[in-house]
Amino acid sequence: MTRETRERVWDAVPLRSTEQAGEGQPLDLGHLDAATEAQVLARLLSRDFDAWSEAAARVGHCAKPVRLHGSSQTVDTRTGEVLSSFSSSDSPLGVLHVRCGNRRAADCPSCSRLYAADTFHLIRAGVTGGRGVPEEVGENPLVFATLTAPSFGLVHGTRGGRTCRPFTLRGQDRVCEHGRPTVCHARHADGDEPLGQPLCRDCYDYESHLVWQWWAPELWRRFTIDLRRTLAKQLGVIESRLAELVTVQYAKVAEYQLRGIVHFHALIRLDGPKTIDGFAPAPAGLTAALLALLVEQAGAGVSFDAPSLHEGDVTRRLRFGAQFDARPIAAARRTDDPDRALTPEQVAGYLAKYATKSATDSTNTHGPHARRLRATIVTIVDRQRAESAASDQPMAEHPYGLLFKWRHMLGFRGHFSTKSRRYSVTLGQLRRRRVRYERALAAAHREGRTLHVRDLDDLLQDDAEETTLVVGQWTYAGTGWDTDGDTELAKAAAARAREYAQERAAARNEQRTGRVASRKETDCERGRFGR
Ligand SMILES: [Zn+2]
Ligand SMILES: [Zn+2]
Ligand SMILES: [Zn+2]
Repeated sequence: MTRETRERVWDAVPLRSTEQAGEGQPLDLGHLDAATEAQVLARLLSRDFDAWSEAAARVGHCAKPVRLHGSSQTVDTRTGEVLSSFSSSDSPLGVLHVRCGNRRAADCPSCSRLYAADTFHLIRAGVTGGRGVPEEVGENPLVFATLTAPSFGLVHGTRGGRTCRPFTLRGQDRVCEHGRPTVCHARHADGDEPLGQPLCRDCYDYESHLVWQWWAPELWRRFTIDLRRTLAKQLGVIESRLAELVTVQYAKVAEYQLRGIVHFHALIRLDGPKTIDGFAPAPAGLTAALLALLVEQAGAGVSFDAPSLHEGDVTRRLRFGAQFDARPIAAARRTDDPDRALTPEQVAGYLAKYATKSATDSTNTHGPHARRLRATIVTIVDRQRAESAASDQPMAEHPYGLLFKWRHMLGFRGHFSTKSRRYSVTLGQLRRRRVRYERALAAAHREGRTLHVRDLDDLLQDDAEETTLVVGQWTYAGTGWDTDGDTELAKAAAARAREYAQERAAARNEQRTGRVASRKETDCERGRFGR
């Protein structure tokens, strides 16, 4: 073992340290089984460790990169000149690694962070301008709304540290017909097993829960229509002419609650009349406080009569839950209702965080409640199959024909994060800029010069006029690192990079404000919207 190798192992092997993690701190690899530990050591001592660690760094220590074989050339579109070429067979590992791009933190911490960062910038640009969106957009009325699901039965919750369920509902006995208590005197802490679980699973209305979840995207769609209708009424115009006065822009994310049902968080902005560029100033007199009122009004009125699950089943009128909340967002020159107002950073941060969560992150998917939800899906689908066999109607035509496909999402088939067309920039634009930035950085690195701020300005500007084109032919060679040991190393390096970035951000924050003030707990985490 050379001295250099020994030092490398020393740097990378997990040493328990009570000090804060920093750039020079060892990686924390956690508990590995013997086989994985052997793979980690083999990688650290391998001849191509440098090549591997460079490849891992290039994909931001993605946990499950896509492997590609092939080559590409960068061509100047004006002259046809080949500026550079790259072939996977030239690289020491003989393969090109590309980020997996997974949104979910549980699958890939690194790509999920990148997705969260992009979502943050996308949402923030729609609140305060920037990244090609005019700053004036920050003057337009903006509201942060939370649209919840109604109750389908009593469940345990944290209630912000208060007693879970000290009283019975009106007309309710202290024991249900199945002999189970309808009250709970515990104070549940985060991570408690019963959280989100029904007090009695036999009382809980699983079918209605699933019907609501299935139609939640439809309820949202109807809400946006109703909001436009409410606005037209407020402005005294017919709906078809509303776009000549105002347009509604939004960005929304779906978040699972502990009880396994989604709710929506949305930023809703009022822009002026429809123009080619969008982002026109809203007409005078329409304040964020008024918009919040109209949003609440529209949300309370939305309903949808869901098709029945089977012959003889009831028709359910679906609505949003009573815990409907719409709050104005503070902007630099916006002064309405400062007490309830949130800052743009707060909301962009919340939404970006929610967007990387999934059913498996915030719901106990192995608990009896989730199992019962999935079992109910199976029952519903079996009944449909029997019905369609008897009536010769194909399953696909049944309104719940695809429910089984979405059982892992507990019946939610919508997108986790969506926005209207003119809300701000797109994720695609942000990604293309990053690719250009990385290309410029690599070129500067090769030529031994540093990247200037004006280079960065260029990168942000010319979205439409690309002067270089990358042509290539790639074939898929597989997904993931070669061994579990490599995956663990990549994850540990990603975690350290995150800690380091957080520390630097905290230090910058401290410098700027003289204190570190962060509102860590969100309303959802405090159980404000829980039932
Ligand atoms: Zn990844
Ligand atoms: Zn409880
Ligand atoms: Zn019961």
